Amino acid sequence: MSRSHDLFTAAQRHIPGGVNSPVRAFRGVGGDPVFFERAAGAYAFDADGKRYVDYVGSWGPMILGHAHPEVLAAVRNQLDKGLSFGAPTEQETTMADKVCALVPSMDLVRMVSSGTEATMSALRLARGYTGRDKIVKFEGCYHGHADSLLVKAGSGALTLGEPSSPGVPAALAELTITLRYNDLAQVRETFAAIGSEIACIIVEPVAGNMNCIPPVPGFLEGLREVCDQSGAVLIFDEVMTGFRVALGCAQGHYGITPDLTALGKVIGGGMPVGAFGGKREIMSKISPLGPVYQAGTLSGNPIAMAAGLKTLELISAPGFYDQLTATTTALLAGLQVRADAAGIPFSTNQVGGMFGLFFTSEKVTNYEQATACNQEQFKAFFHGMLERGVYLAPSAFEAGFVSIMHGEAEIQTTLDAAAATFAAMTA
Ligand code: PMP
Repeated sequence: MSRSHDLFTAAQRHIPGGVNSPVRAFRGVGGDPVFFERAAGAYAFDADGKRYVDYVGSWGPMILGHAHPEVLAAVRNQLDKGLSFGAPTEQETTMADKVCALVPSMDLVRMVSSGTEATMSALRLARGYTGRDKIVKFEGCYHGHADSLLVKAGSGALTLGEPSSPGVPAALAELTITLRYNDLAQVRETFAAIGSEIACIIVEPVAGNMNCIPPVPGFLEGLREVCDQSGAVLIFDEVMTGFRVALGCAQGHYGITPDLTALGKVIGGGMPVGAFGGKREIMSKISPLGPVYQAGTLSGNPIAMAAGLKTLELISAPGFYDQLTATTTALLAGLQVRADAAGIPFSTNQVGGMFGLFFTSEKVTNYEQATACNQEQFKAFFHGMLERGVYLAPSAFEAGFVSIMHGEAEIQTTLDAAAATFAAMTA
């Protein structure tokens, strides 16, 4: 038996399900989760010393590859000065200036310690700013685990939301309206009926929590329009897409200006960091400038700022996203050729350094299509790749991530593994 197996058994003694975040438990694909010991560049090494080409990248942050020497040096430099002060530091100003320069929709930005905090705070701010309670989100989008966001739709567009987790009060869930992603007509209908009661629309501008589904042309534009007409706040949850699909985030890539933006993952370079920000008029309602309360003991933590700032500096290098995008395109093209050769129905989506793999012959643009893909084939593919040294997200409903350290050799290793896996799946 592997060390990962023994470690997983031990982990279950005192950790619920043996993991500190559910997807890590491999429930979606079966088998024991892989325990990692270290990672460098495009590779992660498990507790048994086996090497994997890593397409999870800590679920997105590791865009520079793991253990980037300059990021580690920045962290080391800060370490000797102390881990946390709970008082302002110069680095926080540098970070705010940098973020607002890269993302022009943001005039003011507040640092937090996770993506969940960022979206939760943005939501409270949108409600506090508009004086309205209802929110609109989309099926298949994930915005962290704040109560208002753990809600799925009832059957009709305007039926009351039902909690998707015990512990979420029904009275709160009723305020969350869940609509279909990429269905602008449904959004328009909803706003025509109750637009004046809606505080905000929160959306992943590229959906990355139901695999990877880009917005259809006109969808984000339409959301901007209905928000302008109704006075609702448009929140882009760019926790995943921020600095992942482009240096200017998804909003820069698609040319849509949200009112508020939530960030996470890449902005912390692998440390626990999130941020939310946007229009000065709205952000000025946040405490201590305004009445909407929000705070954090470790917010703007100096070690986290050091890692994040160095990451933002390095991804700002000319050509960075061209290379990242080209590598991702080459990976997907290679996978498609090999799936086609094996006669396996397969399609892919990509935006910048973010991708999705679907076991279907259709181009996937919505939640129904994503959930209708062949799950058994995904599981077989996942385990075949894992065995051959390629670590993919252990769920058919998560996006994949490429780092700048993924080069020709890593892509070739991946494609060779895929050819063998597809062949084994059809044998
Ligand atoms: N929003 C999006 C779009 C996410 O993908 C995630 C996490 N995957 C979150 C919010 C929550 O972030 P965190 O896990 O850091 O709380």
